[in-house]
Amino acid sequence: MGKRELEENIINLKGVGDKTAKLFEKCGIRTCGDLIGYYPRTYDLFNEIVNASDVINGEVNTVRLTIIGNVVKRRVRNLTIIAFDAADQTGKIKITYFNAPYLMNSLKSGTTHVFRGQVQRKGSFFTMNQPKMYKLDEYMGIVRSMQPRYPLVKGLTNTAVMKAVKGAFTSAGSFEEFLPKEILDKYELMGYSEALYNIHFPKSREYLENARRRLAYDEFLLFVLKLRLLKNTQEDLKNSFPMIEVSEVNRLLEQLPYKLTKAQQNAWEDIKNDISGEGVMNRLIQGDVGSGKTVIALLTLLTTAANGYQGALMAPTEVLAAQHYESFKEIIQKYNLKSIKPVLLTGALSAKDKKEAQRQISEGEVNCIIGTNALIQEKVNYKNLALVVTDEQHRFGVRQRESLAGKGENVHVLAMSATPIPRTLAIILYGDLHISVIDELPGGRLPIKNCVVGTDYRPTAYKFIKDQVEKGRQAYVICPMVEEGELDGVENVTDYTDKLRAALPSDIQVEMLHGRMKPSAKDEIMEAFARKDIDVLVSTTVIEVGINVPNATVMMIENAERFGLSQLHQLRGRVGRGKEQSYCIFLNTSESDEAKQRLDIMNKSNDGFKIAEEDLRQRGPGDLFGVRQSGDLNFRVGDIYHDSDLVKAAAMDADKILLEDPDLTKPQHGVIRDMLYTKSVNPVDLMAL
Ligand code: ADP
Ligand code: MG
Repeated sequence: MGKRELEENIINLKGVGDKTAKLFEKCGIRTCGDLIGYYPRTYDLFNEIVNASDVINGEVNTVRLTIIGNVVKRRVRNLTIIAFDAADQTGKIKITYFNAPYLMNSLKSGTTHVFRGQVQRKGSFFTMNQPKMYKLDEYMGIVRSMQPRYPLVKGLTNTAVMKAVKGAFTSAGSFEEFLPKEILDKYELMGYSEALYNIHFPKSREYLENARRRLAYDEFLLFVLKLRLLKNTQEDLKNSFPMIEVSEVNRLLEQLPYKLTKAQQNAWEDIKNDISGEGVMNRLIQGDVGSGKTVIALLTLLTTAANGYQGALMAPTEVLAAQHYESFKEIIQKYNLKSIKPVLLTGALSAKDKKEAQRQISEGEVNCIIGTNALIQEKVNYKNLALVVTDEQHRFGVRQRESLAGKGENVHVLAMSATPIPRTLAIILYGDLHISVIDELPGGRLPIKNCVVGTDYRPTAYKFIKDQVEKGRQAYVICPMVEEGELDGVENVTDYTDKLRAALPSDIQVEMLHGRMKPSAKDEIMEAFARKDIDVLVSTTVIEVGINVPNATVMMIENAERFGLSQLHQLRGRVGRGKEQSYCIFLNTSESDEAKQRLDIMNKSNDGFKIAEEDLRQRGPGDLFGVRQSGDLNFRVGDIYHDSDLVKAAAMDADKILLEDPDLTKPQHGVIRDMLYTKSVNPVDLMAL
């Protein structure tokens, strides 16, 4: 493999034209390397052929049937329908195709075919709509293999992605192995090339798991190496920005309408000790959703400002950054805080506003800079940055942290996360990072009431939302998709908004929010929701992290079975933030028992730690792909809980490698070094770095 092939524009691949290239661009894919790094979302298993009597209702089954009786072709308006019965010795299934008149030639009475598709029970018999048809030998060639399913955008088909990925592999050739043989042998890891190929086109479930394990190991190894190298340069750094306690903070604490919880107080004490101590602060605040981490960030930023320095707060989304900015401004005004001067800097600002913000920052007119990763762009020059706070930092983007920290000299770092990482793992992953746990929710909150329901409950749910809105409350409805056509059977925000407007009285304001909207439009919607100008917000998971609108009391999640449990927990955490009773409605559209069991965990517990534990217990290795955990440390394939043995192994190996070769200058570590220091050399973009 060469760097050149991977940087080759996909437009040069066979079958990728201008139009397809544009669609790929929407998915962030420009080069062959991007394509190879575009892992499937999940996989379809070409399951064994079963008897007609053994099919499972609601699932994809494969059967081998002979067409019996007549094949009927009908036209209904502009639809051509082909329908027939087909059977084996054990039973009969009714099969229907739409708009596929070309099939008439092969569908002759008495002929036998393999059919693969979703089976539905209709009264006393089973039906299959639009099953895929195979010749027996053709199917035997692929049985037990798995077909990738990629994240798509409208107009881009799964087949098109598959073809392009195959093309990219052909053009890239094989990939150089970079792990030493001892390591490969010790953990029985699959070779690098084979793993990359099998993550896209696994020969079987076992191959997929082995490929995933190998790539997970790589992620952990590189992650730990990067951290260790970073730490080496930071080891024993002296505190260049010593701070003293400030009276304004104490006054604010006295005037706030609530008292800090004991756990918040402890976290705040830890921080104060850090920033006034000998060394530089490197602290993680871990606290479940709603435990009150924001105010801790504010106190730290206020202290920094009052000590004459600048501090920055980095949020993962523009929506959250804007919310922090608004709420800080409100508090600053309300409590007449004189020393802190906030500014918002995100990609959503106009060029002019951005320039102005940058000027204010570099000239030191502002001292509390709130934003997204626009904060780490080169154009921002801080005057005297002393503190960086990262909110909802599940990813612990080392790359980002390093880059932002690089803006100032040895700045204090405070990371805040709702993700419960077991302490032992946190120590392996973060070494000397200090951790404060906020294990207590503010008092006076009523536990959220949960229910898991089916689609027939929708009218009741709408009525419930209407009642809550009439009582002055607000509601969120979450759909997995933005617009139609991305996935069958999955609700999308665009159509759902219309549907809900029709279902609710016209004086109830329903609006939508999703990631493809312009940043300024997103901000407007969020602000309007915070102002209560919007009653019901239909949204994708863009509101998942951090959003705080305490007046919202209903969270309804469509296709709840499609989300990971940690993600559901994050979503649910958007309600239950005020004094009123809050409710979470999980709408389960799947018939599978497994989905029911998973959602049942949500039903029973409101505790993030418990949910993470249970989730891990219930998930098998094969599920790791289907249910990506958005809230977890965001490795691409690795899962710190499931793969905790690999995390430990990789941490040990990283230390061993660095002991022998502290700067990774030996030739055998050349590829690893490249992977760590040059972004595009490797197809696998190490998101966690
Ligand atoms: P998270 O930890 O999820 O970031 P937030 O910081 O957004 O939580 O806090 C959630 C809500 O709880 C906010 O409305 C905040 O004002 C409120 N809050 C924070 N600390 C306390 C406290 N000690 N007592 C009562 N309410 C609090
Ligand atoms: Mg928060």
